[in-house]
Amino acid sequence: MTTAAPETVAATVRAMRRAGAAGEPVPADEVAAWARTFMVQLYGPQKPVRIECRPLYSVEPWIKAEDADVVHARRRKLDIRALYLHPKADKPGKSHRFKNDVCQDCGDGHFYAGPNCEPPAPTPDSRTALPFDPSWFREPLEALQRFASIKIISLSDASKWKRETAYLLERLDQYDKETLA
Ligand SMILES: [Zn+2]
Repeated sequence: MTTAAPETVAATVRAMRRAGAAGEPVPADEVAAWARTFMVQLYGPQKPVRIECRPLYSVEPWIKAEDADVVHARRRKLDIRALYLHPKADKPGKSHRFKNDVCQDCGDGHFYAGPNCEPPAPTPDSRTALPFDPSWFREPLEALQRFASIKIISLSDASKWKRETAYLLERLDQYDKETLA
């Protein structure tokens, strides 16, 4: 199996998955090409400006790592991370609130979350500019019907339909106000 060296991360991952599925040995020069693409595309010529560490599996604040911490990370049972931008000098922002390794506010996973919790700004509903349409009720009503029969609702379903019903009630109020005025 010979393929031209893919030049993007996506193409490289695709090639790697294809090679994995094929189950055949991959020539060393092909593996080297994949590694080269990752190094160039993901890291480029930049060097980390700061290396930080903290005890493995902990939520302790990250502190500056010494060279020996990096070299002996495994023996010292440290998690190491490299920062490619200077940490902000201003006071630390909001901390994450992890539950089951996922932040409840911004949704970041524990192992890749940044130092500050920055919940994404809510995206405006695409229906805002549209005239009120009763068909919008179909999906939430069907969901309510479903939940009423299964009696179990996941956290993400709950927040999705809470948001959806709040929006629809708001638009319904507005519609009532306009038509009854
Ligand atoms: Zn967070």
